[in-house]
Parts: sequence; structure tokens; C-alpha cells
Amino acid sequence: MKQTLRSIKHAVMGTYLQASQVYYTVAGKTVECNICQYKSNHLASDGWHQHVICPYCKSTVRHRLLMAAFSLLNEFGFDKLIENKSVLHFAPEKHLEKVMRSKAGSYKTADFLAEGYAYSRIDYNIDISAMKAIGDESFDCVIACDVLEHVPDHMGAIREVYRVLKPGGYCVFTVPQKDNLKQTIEDLSITSPQERERIFGQRDHLRIYGDDFVDMLTACGFAVTGIDEHFFSKEIIDQYVLFPPILSKHPLATNYRKVFFGKK
Ligand SMILES: [Zn+2]
Repeated sequence: MKQTLRSIKHAVMGTYLQASQVYYTVAGKTVECNICQYKSNHLASDGWHQHVICPYCKSTVRHRLLMAAFSLLNEFGFDKLIENKSVLHFAPEKHLEKVMRSKAGSYKTADFLAEGYAYSRIDYNIDISAMKAIGDESFDCVIACDVLEHVPDHMGAIREVYRVLKPGGYCVFTVPQKDNLKQTIEDLSITSPQERERIFGQRDHLRIYGDDFVDMLTACGFAVTGIDEHFFSKEIIDQYVLFPPILSKHPLATNYRKVFFGKK
């Protein structure tokens, strides 16, 4: 019964989305998802942020910033980082995976399958902080969006990503960063999901990052560029919603998102 209801809900939602796309194509739109090309006059909201979630592919500001960097910035373009390159994508987002897979020379997915996170399309079921199955200098690019906050030994993870990258290769990271927080807040002795949610923002987060995330990448050898909305024109920011149109008042919110490109 539950399954049937879910199928009906998906069918209705799918029909609605298709009809709305015809409407916005004809009548004009003000925003567009640069990952799945969903068009509308505004995006969807979640409990923390208003009008930032693509209702079709669920992309949010960090994913669209990443896509904008690959699509529009010469230094970090698809042609430099992805095309004809070997790419390892941790915890791959379905629609981002589709784009990367279509462009990369070779493309592998990885995750450390914890309870509650099930994927069927993982090439490597590995801990990012101990990637024993992957040799040194194996990949040109490693992508991990909002992964490190789940990893106990996150510095070990950054070192491992450095190890598996070829010289000149790139890591692409995002992490939740509380607005205006200088130093990362971490306390591995906090194990209760409720306490983690209260202090770090989510039940399975082990820390909340500050501006010092750049220093962590630098300490492991990366030359780092943090990409935010300032790299793009106002038209592009508004079109692809690369910055929250309404600032979240949640005390742990990341309104000022960055995507970090680190060169080995
Ligand atoms: Zn989308």
C-alpha cells in the first residue's frame, strides 16, 4: 500500500514538474538549476534555507557553485579537471554523477557505506581516511561534497586524497562552515545524535568547520582556491541561485558557501 501511494505521488510530481517546465520555457523563468536544467521562478526551501533547493535533482547552493566553477571558470573548467581525466567521486550526488560520468575520461564512485546510507552504484566501499584499495597517484580529480564532517580522522582523509591524486591533480571539497566561524569546532567525545545535531547541525556530523578549513588543506600540501559567488556575475548568481536569496537565520547555517579546489 505504502509503495503504491509512493508511486502515485512520484507520478503526480513527475507530471507536475514536466508541465511546469513547458510553462517556464514558454512564459520565461527567473531561476534555473545548472545541473538538471529545471526552470522556475523560485527554488524550493528546507528547514534552514528558503528557495535554494532544486525540487527535481535536490541540488543546493554548493552543488550549483561547483557546477558553475566547472562550466564557467577557465582555471577550473571541465576541460582542465574532468575531460579525458580519471575522476573519483565520493558519496556521489545522482545528478552530479550523471554530468561527471558523461564528461570524465574514466569515472569511479566511492563511499563508506554506513547505516542509513545505501547506494547501489558504488565502485569502492572504502573509508576515505584509509583508502587501501587505491594506489598512489591513481586519479586526476577527487570530488567530495560535504563528506569530511562525517569522518573521524578528517586530516587523515585529506592526506589520503593527496596521496591518491596524481601530481597536478585536483581535490574538490565542500564542508558545512558556520557563518563567521574562525576555528572549526570538533569534539569527538560527543556521541549522542541529539547533541551532535545541537552543536554541529546534524545527527551524524562530528564537527562544524570554520575558516581554518583552508589551512587544513594547505597543511596537507594543496594549493587552495575557495570559490564563492564573487567569482560570478550578478546575472549568473541570480539565474543559478549561487547564493541564498534570503539569508538563513539558523545559528549553524552556512550562508556563505565555498567550493574548495586544491591542486597537488
Ligand atoms: Zn536540479
